[in-house]
Amino acid sequence: MSGPDGVVVVGAGLAGATAVETLRAEGFDGRVVLVGAEEERPYERPPLSKQYLLGAAGRDGAHVHAAEWYADSDVDLRTGVRAVGLDPAAHEVELDSGEVLRYGVVLLATGASARRLPVPGAELDGVRYLRTLADADRLRAELTGGGRRVVVVGGGWIGLEVAAAARHHGNPVTLVEPRPTPLHGVLGARLGEVFARLHRSHGVDLRTGASVRALEGSGGRVRSVLLDGGDPLPADLVVVGVGAVPETALAEAAGLPVRNGIVVDPALRSAVPDVFAAGDVAAAFSLRYGRHLRVEHWANALHGGPAAARSILGQDVVHDRVPYFFTDQYELGMEYSGLGRPDGPVVCRGNPDEGPFIAFWLGPDGQVEAGMNVDVWDVAEQVQALVRSGEPVPVEQLTDPAVPLAELVPTGSG
Ligand SMILES: Cc1cc2nc3c(=O)[nH]c(=O)nc-3n(C[C@H](O)[C@H](O)[C@H](O)COP(=O)(O)OP(=O)(O)OC[C@H]3O[C@@H](n4cnc5c(N)ncnc54)[C@H](O)[C@@H]3O)c2cc1C
Repeated sequence: MSGPDGVVVVGAGLAGATAVETLRAEGFDGRVVLVGAEEERPYERPPLSKQYLLGAAGRDGAHVHAAEWYADSDVDLRTGVRAVGLDPAAHEVELDSGEVLRYGVVLLATGASARRLPVPGAELDGVRYLRTLADADRLRAELTGGGRRVVVVGGGWIGLEVAAAARHHGNPVTLVEPRPTPLHGVLGARLGEVFARLHRSHGVDLRTGASVRALEGSGGRVRSVLLDGGDPLPADLVVVGVGAVPETALAEAAGLPVRNGIVVDPALRSAVPDVFAAGDVAAAFSLRYGRHLRVEHWANALHGGPAAARSILGQDVVHDRVPYFFTDQYELGMEYSGLGRPDGPVVCRGNPDEGPFIAFWLGPDGQVEAGMNVDVWDVAEQVQALVRSGEPVPVEQLTDPAVPLAELVPTGSG
């Protein structure tokens, strides 16, 4: 088939891997190179803080494709190689091996990396981050067997999942979070409290409203965590989960517009000809929200890679899905769809203090901006349809378990 004169994909994560898969599935028979800085072939990250860290799944379950898929699909996968230069005028990508790859189109799928903790002592041994499979290998080995005093810094998704895994392995865990509850910036106080209770009930010493001032060590190894105005917390292991930063260096150096991610249109095209971006690194214009949105979630990479591939092949593409995220912690499983204002009004179907429930964040006109189903399954599609519709929904019906959610979705908007 016709198409660009060779596609180079920089970043061999989920977005990169699903993009090359779609290029081939759509019949593109030109040259495809997938360049990844990690030694590992593409894998999915959610298991790294869940099944894999719990010891309930092996390494191989995380990979996107079998090892032989790349050669079988005529995809030139280069692992352990970093792209260090992008020259859009010359249509070239420079690798740290010195090799220069010419491209017809380049897709930047460089993802994000763990934000570092900006306090004295953060460089001590025993301070861990969780972004890669290699990080998870080491952390899993250190948590297994229990008995280590673990301090988790940050009550976001990754911090909470690591805390759950550390407890599962029998380690004493203290979790430090500056806001009044975990997940405060996403869920707000009332729903953040559900996660606070969950972790406390599993023995986590949850310190909210507390900030880390410094890490102290001896012999080069971390020994304690100093909080603002508190006693030092003894620590054998400190796991930092304070967010991620998009990997935009290549794009910035090449002169692409970057504002919290590589700025792209709904078809994932950047302002520079023949340069596309997808996944965690892309700030794509959302028609729904009327602004550029960078979504750091698995589903966005899963669907964004294929969307970019189709766009590269000249198909009409609008990548504007309702943001979706999931987590598993202890016995709790949840899915969150949409983009709610954490301080906006929330109504619930079921009681968050007692068991399974669905929370809905409402907009100014009573429309559903986001929904979170906790231990309630097979409803995420319907919640997303409600978000997509943008129509007001009567609260009495939204909160009444006897009313099927599907009945609340206006006809034609599901
Ligand atoms: C521990 C963990 C758990 C998660 N759990 C969930 C979850 O439960 N639910 C959910 O929705 N999301 C979850 N996420 C988020 C989800 O994994 C990400 O949104 C997803 O990985 C994004 O995929 P990506 O391909 O855009 O980027 P990435 O996965 O970051 O992959 C980008 C790849 O590009 C490589 N790269 C970067 N720069 C270069 C370069 N210059 N040259 C070559 N290669 C380069 C990187 O090394 C990396 O391998 C989790 C993330 C982590 C870290």
